[in-house]
Amino acid sequence: LFARPWSFLRGARGMGDLPDAGPLEVAFAGRSNVGKSTLLNALVGQKALARTSNTPGRTQELNFFVTDTAPIVMVDMPGYGYAAAPKKTVEAWTGLVFDYLRGRVTLRRVYLLIDARHGLKANDEEVMNTLDQAAVSYQIVLTKTDKIAPSALETLLAETAEKIKKRPAAYPEIVATSSVTKEGVDALRAELARLAAE
Ligand code: GDP
Repeated sequence: LFARPWSFLRGARGMGDLPDAGPLEVAFAGRSNVGKSTLLNALVGQKALARTSNTPGRTQELNFFVTDTAPIVMVDMPGYGYAAAPKKTVEAWTGLVFDYLRGRVTLRRVYLLIDARHGLKANDEEVMNTLDQAAVSYQIVLTKTDKIAPSALETLLAETAEKIKKRPAAYPEIVATSSVTKEGVDALRAELARLAAE
């Protein structure tokens, strides 16, 4: 799945802009600065793929990435929870992202990225509420694990597992990743390949 390059298909600013629903989609969501672009680039092994999404103007779009090796689409969602964002931007984020999460029939899995230094925040819980209600399966991916001590990571894993235990659409296993040590990157790749092969 990651042997050949991935490329940018399109950015969508509204539900009307989405590519035709076809192949299964996996979406990456998280607060801004969580390390989403870095992890996407590490997954595909391309330094600049997700830079497209971090360029001003593209940050509020859903960005679709494709590869010719398998009918699977990766979707980079706009980061949320950026305190300084103008109210209008926040509302646009809310509208598009929640509409997409609730209404996209081909959406197979959401990877919800959580900064290992911060843990789950209120807006992450809001996203999980939406996914539980829409019955869209999601998995927690901790990022930047190189920034915390192994004991702190263990505590966080246990606390987070406890918090998601009763959530119907949450995948019970949590993936710990670091783009610095590359921890978890291969595991995530393997799982995406497995989803693509189903
Ligand atoms: P995004 O806004 O979620 O796309 O976040 P970025 O991928 O742009 O990353 C935000 C910042 O966190 C950048 O300075 C990255 O270099 C840094 N970062 C991302 N992933 C990691 C990681 O695994 N470990 C460390 N130490 N820093 C990271």
